Amino acid sequence: MTEAPEPRPGLNELVGLTLTALAEGRRRRGGPLPAGGPSRVRAAIQAALGVSPDRTSLLPSTGIGATAALTGLVEALAAGSADPADPWCAAHLHCPPLPVAVAADLAVSALNPSLDSWDQAPAATTIETEVVAALAALAGFDPDRAAGTITTGGTESNLMGLLLARDAAPNGRLRVFRSAAAHLSIDRAAAVLGLDAPPVTAIPTDDQDRMRVDLLRRALAEHAGPAVVVATAGTTDAGAVDPLREIAAAVEEHRSRLRVRPHPSAPAETGHPASSGWLHVDAAYGGGALFSDRLAGHLDGIALADSVALDLHKLGWQPAPAGVFLTPRPDGWPSLRAAHADYLRSEDDEAAGFPSLLDRSLRTTRRADSFPIAVALRALGRDGLGALVDACHDLARHAERTVHADPRLEPAFPVTLSTVVFRYRPRAGATGSAACTADRLDQLNDAIRRTLLLGGRAVVGRTRTGPDRAVHLKLTLLNPDATQADVDTLLRLVATTGDELVGGDGGGVRSVP
Ligand SMILES: *Cc1c(COP(=O)(O)O)cnc(C)c1O
Repeated sequence: MTEAPEPRPGLNELVGLTLTALAEGRRRRGGPLPAGGPSRVRAAIQAALGVSPDRTSLLPSTGIGATAALTGLVEALAAGSADPADPWCAAHLHCPPLPVAVAADLAVSALNPSLDSWDQAPAATTIETEVVAALAALAGFDPDRAAGTITTGGTESNLMGLLLARDAAPNGRLRVFRSAAAHLSIDRAAAVLGLDAPPVTAIPTDDQDRMRVDLLRRALAEHAGPAVVVATAGTTDAGAVDPLREIAAAVEEHRSRLRVRPHPSAPAETGHPASSGWLHVDAAYGGGALFSDRLAGHLDGIALADSVALDLHKLGWQPAPAGVFLTPRPDGWPSLRAAHADYLRSEDDEAAGFPSLLDRSLRTTRRADSFPIAVALRALGRDGLGALVDACHDLARHAERTVHADPRLEPAFPVTLSTVVFRYRPRAGATGSAACTADRLDQLNDAIRRTLLLGGRAVVGRTRTGPDRAVHLKLTLLNPDATQADVDTLLRLVATTGDELVGGDGGGVRSVP
């Protein structure tokens, strides 16, 4: 006798089970991340996946059924997650998503529109177009002329910016100028695009992590060909914003230099105003400041850019991915236009008024990630989102005051957005402080972070900065519901963990996990 197949439970029932399992997994975790480190998490997740040490696969020949698979794995995922909704999970540009955006995301998954053709996404095509127009207006572009697309994040948006810059450059030859603090995705995009060799010139930063515009001017003056300058609005480590207006002026000077008095080796000028100079602003982190009256001034000059990257899965509280690429040049997508597929897009459809977003993206199948953004923009408005940005900025300024007040904590940069970079240093006269060489100090700060991770107690960021590339810790505060008391407790935990690690053995780091 064969067993009756399990009835297929519907979405209502499964969503209810998911929410219960999420809560249970969080309860089991009991902190910002699972305690015990990678081996313990791996074992727990493999057990939930049904994978055993003798390497059985998670793909059984007969399934265990929707209810068991879903509840078991959601609980394991929640128990094993670093949860950005916990105030002590503060390492990365990793935000707790707004419940309203998560709920909207569920609708997208249920309907599964795909933006590569209108007949897969009749509503979502308009939604994306309107989200792009609203965000273009927020950045100061003319929303009727600006174009853009929703991307997987800053990485894809930066690649798009460099692609459009290359398409606009004569002969496709182009050199990238970016600050030493620019995001790694800029160099990766240059590598993918196979730009001129050497493809990238790094411009040094000042003591606040901002591009030195005097040095940019000098580097551009020495370069006879087309240039894309990448300004960072919100460096990933310090949250510093490059001086956008001054950088735009330097790009404009480069354009007119090549237009008026071309260097003998310069390629022929095509007459396109953007062809010899392009300004791309990587505002993946700082773009959210545009929602805040208090902080928007930092981005003054962003409207002079030829292209912009924003990430609403950072200061925007969207579930990832919610990247945004914007450009005031609607005509500049030749590389994407060049490739054609009759099954997705046809001239007769376009003539008949069926729009196509196919050549707005490098991707083909593409989720309607604009939808949760649209819902959140409508639900909170600019003021509501601005209030969340300000709450995170307030928390960072409070953390900065606490760091200044604790003799064991040493700040690295002033707060611009919502990041505080600092390091632990044993108090002068404390046991072992005299023996604290630069290497020891690095090891100690590394050890503080890993001790907190292994204990499941806190997720604190780590980077290297300053002239000697010293190890520093950082709090990236993106949880507007965290309190000043949460931040103070977290900083005290960092400092006391440092004290415990220094211990009484003559300044050695006692146990470096
Ligand atoms: C996060 C970040 C990126 C990369 O964005 P993803 O969304 O992770 O692809 C690029 N630039 C800056 C300045 C960033 O902070």
